[in-house]
Amino acid sequence: LVVVENVQKHYGEFQALTDIDLTVNEGEVVVVIGPSGSGKSTLCRTINRLETITSGSIRIDGKELPAEGKALATLRADVGMVFQSFNLFAHLTILENVTLGPIKVRGLKKAAAEKEAMELLERVGVAKQASKLPAQLSGGQQQRVAIARALAMHPKVMLFDEPTSALDPEMINEVLDVMVELAEQGMTMIVVTHEMGFARKAAHRVVFMADGHIVEEATPEEFFTHPKSDRAKDFLSKLL
Ligand code: ATP
Ligand code: MG
Repeated sequence: LVVVENVQKHYGEFQALTDIDLTVNEGEVVVVIGPSGSGKSTLCRTINRLETITSGSIRIDGKELPAEGKALATLRADVGMVFQSFNLFAHLTILENVTLGPIKVRGLKKAAAEKEAMELLERVGVAKQASKLPAQLSGGQQQRVAIARALAMHPKVMLFDEPTSALDPEMINEVLDVMVELAEQGMTMIVVTHEMGFARKAAHRVVFMADGHIVEEATPEEFFTHPKSDRAKDFLSKLL
Protein backbone atom coordinates (compact mmCIF):
# COMPACT_ATOMS: atom_id res chain seq x y z
CA LEU A 1 0.00 0.00 0.00
CA VAL A 2 2.87 2.36 0.84
CA VAL A 3 6.02 1.79 -1.17
CA VAL A 4 9.07 3.91 -0.41
CA GLU A 5 11.93 3.23 -2.80
CA ASN A 6 15.49 4.43 -2.61
CA VAL A 7 14.51 7.74 -1.04
CA GLN A 8 17.11 10.39 -0.31
CA LYS A 9 16.20 13.58 1.50
CA HIS A 10 18.46 16.55 2.04
CA TYR A 11 17.95 19.70 4.05
CA GLY A 12 20.46 21.87 2.22
CA GLU A 13 23.77 20.04 2.50
CA PHE A 14 22.59 17.79 5.28
CA GLN A 15 21.32 14.34 4.30
CA ALA A 16 18.44 13.47 6.59
CA LEU A 17 17.35 10.25 4.83
CA THR A 18 19.66 7.84 3.01
CA ASP A 19 18.61 4.89 0.82
CA ILE A 20 15.24 4.42 2.46
CA ASP A 21 13.29 1.39 1.23
CA LEU A 22 10.10 0.56 3.05
CA THR A 23 6.99 -1.31 2.02
CA VAL A 24 3.90 -1.29 4.19
CA ASN A 25 1.15 -3.69 3.17
CA GLU A 26 -2.55 -3.19 3.63
CA GLY A 27 -3.57 -3.79 7.23
CA GLU A 28 -0.02 -3.77 8.43
CA VAL A 29 1.13 -1.84 11.50
CA VAL A 30 4.73 -0.69 11.34
CA VAL A 31 6.37 0.96 14.33
CA VAL A 32 9.34 3.21 13.61
CA ILE A 33 11.79 3.80 16.42
CA GLY A 34 15.24 5.27 16.73
CA PRO A 35 17.26 7.95 18.45
CA SER A 36 16.45 11.64 18.26
CA GLY A 37 17.48 13.09 14.92
CA SER A 38 17.50 9.74 13.13
CA GLY A 39 14.96 10.93 10.55
CA LYS A 40 11.70 9.40 11.81
CA SER A 41 9.66 12.59 11.52
CA THR A 42 11.29 13.42 8.20
CA LEU A 43 10.23 10.02 6.87
CA CYS A 44 6.62 10.61 7.97
CA ARG A 45 6.62 14.10 6.50
CA THR A 46 7.94 12.92 3.15
CA ILE A 47 5.30 10.19 2.95
CA ASN A 48 2.52 12.77 2.85
CA ARG A 49 4.63 15.38 1.06
CA LEU A 50 4.84 17.90 3.86
CA GLU A 51 8.48 17.61 2.76
CA THR A 52 9.74 17.02 -0.75
CA ILE A 53 12.31 14.30 -1.39
CA THR A 54 15.63 14.77 -3.17
CA SER A 55 15.30 11.54 -5.14
CA GLY A 56 13.61 8.17 -5.08
CA SER A 57 9.93 7.39 -5.15
CA ILE A 58 7.02 7.16 -2.74
CA ARG A 59 3.81 5.53 -3.90
CA ILE A 60 0.54 5.26 -2.03
CA ASP A 61 -1.76 2.59 -3.42
CA GLY A 62 0.30 2.47 -6.61
CA LYS A 63 0.18 6.22 -7.21
CA GLU A 64 3.21 8.45 -7.09
CA LEU A 65 2.63 11.44 -4.82
CA PRO A 66 2.30 14.55 -6.97
CA ALA A 67 4.39 17.51 -5.83
CA GLU A 68 1.57 20.02 -5.59
CA GLY A 69 -1.84 21.21 -6.64
CA LYS A 70 -5.24 19.61 -6.48
CA ALA A 71 -3.90 16.12 -7.13
CA LEU A 72 -1.77 16.45 -4.03
CA ALA A 73 -4.73 17.48 -1.87
CA THR A 74 -6.70 14.49 -3.12
CA LEU A 75 -3.92 12.02 -2.59
CA ARG A 76 -2.98 13.51 0.77
CA ALA A 77 -6.49 12.72 1.91
CA ASP A 78 -5.43 9.07 1.62
CA VAL A 79 -2.81 9.65 4.29
CA GLY A 80 -4.09 10.59 7.74
CA MET A 81 -1.52 12.23 9.97
CA VAL A 82 -1.44 12.69 13.73
CA PHE A 83 1.38 14.73 15.23
CA GLN A 84 2.89 15.12 18.65
CA SER A 85 1.20 18.50 19.10
CA PHE A 86 -2.47 18.08 18.45
CA ASN A 87 -2.75 20.76 15.76
CA LEU A 88 -6.49 21.26 16.19
CA PHE A 89 -7.96 24.50 14.89
CA ALA A 90 -8.24 26.52 18.10
CA HIS A 91 -11.16 28.69 17.01
CA LEU A 92 -13.31 25.79 15.81
CA THR A 93 -15.36 23.45 17.97
CA ILE A 94 -14.42 19.80 18.22
CA LEU A 95 -17.24 18.89 15.85
CA GLU A 96 -16.19 21.59 13.35
CA ASN A 97 -12.59 20.37 13.53
CA VAL A 98 -13.74 16.93 12.42
CA THR A 99 -16.25 18.05 9.75
CA LEU A 100 -14.08 20.68 8.05
CA GLY A 101 -12.06 18.30 5.88
CA PRO A 102 -14.99 16.09 4.83
CA ILE A 103 -17.01 19.17 3.81
CA LYS A 104 -14.14 20.96 2.03
CA VAL A 105 -12.26 18.06 0.46
CA ARG A 106 -14.70 15.14 0.31
CA GLY A 107 -17.61 17.41 -0.60
CA LEU A 108 -20.00 16.09 2.05
CA LYS A 109 -23.08 18.08 3.05
CA LYS A 110 -22.89 19.54 6.57
CA ALA A 111 -25.49 17.18 8.03
CA ALA A 112 -23.84 14.07 6.60
CA ALA A 113 -20.41 15.22 7.76
CA GLU A 114 -21.75 15.89 11.25
CA LYS A 115 -23.40 12.50 11.50
CA GLU A 116 -20.20 10.74 10.54
CA ALA A 117 -18.10 12.99 12.78
CA MET A 118 -20.27 12.18 15.79
CA GLU A 119 -19.83 8.47 15.12
CA LEU A 120 -16.06 8.92 15.00
CA LEU A 121 -16.02 11.05 18.15
CA GLU A 122 -18.08 8.34 19.81
CA ARG A 123 -15.57 5.74 18.67
CA VAL A 124 -12.64 7.60 20.25
CA GLY A 125 -14.66 8.43 23.36
CA VAL A 126 -15.04 12.20 23.13
CA ALA A 127 -18.54 12.62 21.69
CA LYS A 128 -19.66 14.52 24.81
CA GLN A 129 -17.08 17.23 24.04
CA ALA A 130 -18.35 17.90 20.50
CA SER A 131 -19.46 21.49 21.05
CA LYS A 132 -16.42 22.56 23.08
CA LEU A 133 -13.29 24.31 21.85
CA PRO A 134 -9.98 22.40 21.81
CA ALA A 135 -8.55 24.42 24.72
CA GLN A 136 -11.36 23.13 26.95
CA LEU A 137 -10.20 19.52 26.49
CA SER A 138 -7.39 17.57 28.10
CA GLY A 139 -4.37 16.69 25.99
CA GLY A 140 -5.47 13.09 25.71
CA GLN A 141 -8.93 14.14 24.58
CA GLN A 142 -7.48 16.57 22.02
CA GLN A 143 -5.26 13.87 20.61
CA ARG A 144 -8.21 11.52 20.26
CA VAL A 145 -10.06 14.29 18.40
CA ALA A 146 -7.02 14.61 16.12
CA ILE A 147 -7.31 10.89 15.38
CA ALA A 148 -11.05 11.21 14.66
CA ARG A 149 -10.35 14.19 12.39
CA ALA A 150 -7.81 12.18 10.41
CA LEU A 151 -10.17 9.19 10.16
CA ALA A 152 -12.96 11.44 8.86
CA MET A 153 -11.04 11.72 5.60
CA HIS A 154 -11.24 7.94 5.11
CA PRO A 155 -7.47 7.57 4.81
CA LYS A 156 -5.91 4.44 3.39
CA VAL A 157 -3.01 4.75 5.80
CA MET A 158 -2.54 6.56 9.10
CA LEU A 159 0.77 8.11 10.10
CA PHE A 160 1.42 8.84 13.75
CA ASP A 161 4.47 10.86 14.78
CA GLU A 162 5.02 10.44 18.52
CA PRO A 163 1.32 10.95 19.24
CA THR A 164 1.69 10.45 22.98
CA SER A 165 5.00 12.09 23.78
CA ALA A 166 3.45 15.47 24.66
CA LEU A 167 0.88 13.89 26.98
CA ASP A 168 0.81 13.51 30.73
CA PRO A 169 1.40 9.87 31.69
CA GLU A 170 -2.18 9.18 32.72
CA MET A 171 -3.44 10.24 29.29
CA ILE A 172 -1.05 8.17 27.24
CA ASN A 173 -3.01 4.94 27.55
CA GLU A 174 -6.34 6.39 26.51
CA VAL A 175 -4.72 7.44 23.22
CA LEU A 176 -2.79 4.18 22.79
CA ASP A 177 -5.98 2.21 23.40
CA VAL A 178 -7.66 4.00 20.50
CA MET A 179 -4.65 3.23 18.32
CA VAL A 180 -4.58 -0.44 19.31
CA GLU A 181 -8.27 -0.65 18.45
CA LEU A 182 -7.63 0.93 15.05
CA ALA A 183 -4.87 -1.57 14.44
CA GLU A 184 -7.15 -4.45 15.37
CA GLN A 185 -9.75 -3.15 12.94
CA GLY A 186 -7.19 -3.54 10.17
CA MET A 187 -6.08 0.05 9.58
CA THR A 188 -2.72 0.35 7.85
CA MET A 189 -0.53 2.34 10.22
CA ILE A 190 2.96 3.78 10.42
CA VAL A 191 3.65 4.78 13.99
CA VAL A 192 6.68 6.62 15.32
CA THR A 193 6.67 6.00 19.04
CA HIS A 194 8.81 5.15 22.00
CA GLU A 195 5.92 3.26 23.59
CA MET A 196 7.30 -0.24 23.45
CA GLY A 197 4.11 -1.63 24.99
CA PHE A 198 2.24 -0.46 21.93
CA ALA A 199 4.89 -1.91 19.63
CA ARG A 200 4.68 -5.29 21.33
CA LYS A 201 0.89 -5.30 21.36
CA ALA A 202 0.05 -3.90 17.93
CA ALA A 203 3.05 -3.84 15.61
CA HIS A 204 3.58 -6.42 12.91
CA ARG A 205 7.00 -5.01 12.22
CA VAL A 206 9.50 -2.71 13.91
CA VAL A 207 11.73 -0.48 11.81
CA PHE A 208 14.78 0.85 13.59
CA MET A 209 16.34 4.03 12.19
CA ALA A 210 19.67 5.69 12.97
CA ASP A 211 21.41 8.57 11.19
CA GLY A 212 18.86 8.67 8.39
CA HIS A 213 19.19 4.97 7.57
CA ILE A 214 16.92 2.03 8.22
CA VAL A 215 19.32 -0.10 10.22
CA GLU A 216 17.08 -2.97 11.14
CA GLU A 217 13.62 -4.36 10.43
CA ALA A 218 12.12 -7.22 12.41
CA THR A 219 9.05 -8.48 14.21
CA PRO A 220 8.66 -6.82 17.63
CA GLU A 221 9.48 -10.08 19.37
CA GLU A 222 12.67 -10.57 17.39
CA PHE A 223 13.70 -6.94 17.69
CA PHE A 224 13.21 -6.61 21.43
CA THR A 225 14.77 -9.93 22.34
CA HIS A 226 17.50 -10.21 19.69
CA PRO A 227 18.39 -6.83 18.22
CA LYS A 228 21.10 -7.43 15.62
CA SER A 229 22.92 -4.13 15.28
CA ASP A 230 24.98 -2.43 17.97
CA ARG A 231 23.00 0.77 17.39
CA ALA A 232 19.75 -1.01 18.21
CA LYS A 233 21.24 -2.77 21.24
CA ASP A 234 22.55 0.54 22.51
CA PHE A 235 19.21 2.27 21.88
CA LEU A 236 17.20 -0.42 23.64
CA SER A 237 19.50 -0.51 26.65
CA LYS A 238 18.96 3.22 27.21
CA LEU A 239 15.22 2.90 26.81
CA LEU A 240 14.77 0.42 29.63
P1 ATP B 1 13.08 13.10 17.19
O1 ATP B 1 13.08 11.75 17.84
O2 ATP B 1 13.86 14.09 18.00
O3 ATP B 1 11.72 13.59 16.82
P2 ATP B 1 13.53 12.40 14.41
O4 ATP B 1 14.05 11.02 14.27
O5 ATP B 1 12.09 12.62 14.18
O6 ATP B 1 13.95 12.95 15.84
P3 ATP B 1 13.92 14.34 12.32
O7 ATP B 1 13.07 15.39 12.91
O8 ATP B 1 13.38 13.60 11.16
O9 ATP B 1 14.39 13.30 13.42
O10 ATP B 1 15.29 15.01 11.92
C1 ATP B 1 16.31 14.29 11.25
C2 ATP B 1 17.48 15.22 11.03
O11 ATP B 1 17.11 16.23 10.10
C3 ATP B 1 17.95 15.95 12.28
O12 ATP B 1 19.36 16.00 12.27
C4 ATP B 1 17.35 17.32 12.14
O13 ATP B 1 18.17 18.29 12.74
C5 ATP B 1 17.30 17.52 10.64
N1 ATP B 1 16.16 18.35 10.24
C6 ATP B 1 14.86 18.08 10.47
N2 ATP B 1 14.06 19.03 9.94
C7 ATP B 1 14.88 19.94 9.37
C8 ATP B 1 14.67 21.15 8.64
N3 ATP B 1 13.44 21.62 8.39
N4 ATP B 1 15.77 21.81 8.21
C9 ATP B 1 17.01 21.33 8.43
N5 ATP B 1 17.27 20.19 9.09
C10 ATP B 1 16.24 19.50 9.56
MG1 MG C 1 10.57 13.40 15.32
